[in-house]
Amino acid sequence: MSAQVINGKELVQSVREHFRLEVEELAKHQVQPGLAVVLVGNDPASAVYVRNKAKACETAGIYSEVHRLPEDTGEEELLALVERLNGDKKINGILVQLPLPRHINEDKIIDTIHPDKDVDCFHPINVGNLMIGKPGFLPCTPAGVIEVLKRMKVEIAGKHAVVVGRSNIVGKPMAMLLLREHATVTVCHSRTPDMEQITSQADILVAAVGRPQMIKAKHLKPGAIVIDVGINRLPDGKLVGDVDFEDVLETAGMITPVPGCVGPMTITMLLANTIVSARRAAGLE
Ligand code: NDP
Repeated sequence: MSAQVINGKELVQSVREHFRLEVEELAKHQVQPGLAVVLVGNDPASAVYVRNKAKACETAGIYSEVHRLPEDTGEEELLALVERLNGDKKINGILVQLPLPRHINEDKIIDTIHPDKDVDCFHPINVGNLMIGKPGFLPCTPAGVIEVLKRMKVEIAGKHAVVVGRSNIVGKPMAMLLLREHATVTVCHSRTPDMEQITSQADILVAAVGRPQMIKAKHLKPGAIVIDVGINRLPDGKLVGDVDFEDVLETAGMITPVPGCVGPMTITMLLANTIVSARRAAGLE
């Protein structure tokens, strides 16, 4: 039997509609959530992400401003901008698009974003809150994955979830959120020997590796739910995930397409965090 391919577009649209209505509700309290996105340099992929984020804000009724800075912007100048945004009342979320040019210390910039406006959930305080289950922001990509699973009515509790990848942005917080949903979680990485033996036990497999089409049918338990976080551009310009979509189609039970599911859902969770932040700032949370 062929896997159910999740209709990412439909799913994302319905979640975004939910948040658009929340923004409408907030307007009744004279509150409009605001997001500031900072882009330094000319990375073409980053420019696309930033454009998509600004567009999603506009559609949802969220105020957004994009600060485009040249590649040679100094660290002090960027820190000063972040500080200014920290104090700007119409801004509830600050997102500095990574990666930053090499001469800028990313950690220093992230640490300067006020934790109450850290809608990417990268600040150590928010990462710590996530770890101990205190309320805070949820990291956008992993929260998007959980949203997809819940909307597709996939039971997470008691299931064996395997996350391939252990980055601070995706793999580690993904494992943490799955744990919060009561899955039994295993994390694989580049030093995991015989990974196939582990991934083939997964009821839910999340691939966040950054290696095009690495996960094949042989890595899966028949019927597994496969969430592909990867976004990789092949030399011919085609975008593919970390999962070999065609190869796993007959083995997986359900699969997310790339592009068009986890990527836009990640942006949706960014909107959600900005709304949460605005509600808190207005004392409505
Ligand atoms: P990183 O490069 O930071 O991390 C990759 C992880 O994969 C590392 O933990 C690495 O292990 C592991 N890994 C690498 N090779 C192997 C291998 N052969 N076997 C097992 N594990 C391996 O990437 P990110 O986490 O930032 O991103 C992962 C993917 O997700 C990328 O394709 C990225 O573009 C995409 N992405 C998509 C987003 C979205 O919105 N959909 C958002 C963010 C990322 P080790 O730690 O040992 O080096």
